[in-house]
Amino acid sequence: MLRTLIHKTAWEMDRMAKPDVARRLSDKVSMRNYRANRLVCEAADRAMQVHGAIGYSRHKPFEHIYRHHRRYRITEGSEEIQMRRVAQYLFGYRRET
Ligand SMILES: Cc1cc2nc3c(=O)[nH]c(=O)nc-3n(C[C@H](O)[C@H](O)[C@H](O)COP(=O)(O)OP(=O)(O)OC[C@H]3O[C@@H](n4cnc5c(N)ncnc54)[C@H](O)[C@@H]3O)c2cc1C
Repeated sequence: MLRTLIHKTAWEMDRMAKPDVARRLSDKVSMRNYRANRLVCEAADRAMQVHGAIGYSRHKPFEHIYRHHRRYRITEGSEEIQMRRVAQYLFGYRRET
């Protein structure tokens, strides 16, 4: 579902001028960003748990995947900032024009 939503948003972005993307799709981008970054961290965390101690070690790729993707919940718009952006749209502080 998430992959499809990302593809749909990317497809819409390709058909808009940049200012329109910022005005009309920012909330969608924030939703996809928030959810995708959470999903990959949850998946890596689950994989570590399933594999036990070896999953936590560097013999498996999961700790690297977790650490690498964990940053995206902080950088390039932290998840709190993504939530604020979605709320701006939801509560009409920033409307599509
Ligand atoms: C691996 C890595 C690579 C990086 N690469 C770059 C780079 O190439 N270029 C670059 O410019 N920067 C880079 N950064 C820095 C990154 O952009 C900042 O870490 C990021 O913007 C968050 O800022 P901060 O660390 O000062 O946290 P803060 O802004 O102090 O935020 C701390 C916490 O408070 C929350 N918070 C902050 N403001 C609000 C608010 N208004 N409402 C609600 N919650 C809020 C944040 O969501 C976060 O959880 C990198 C960071 C990392 C970890």
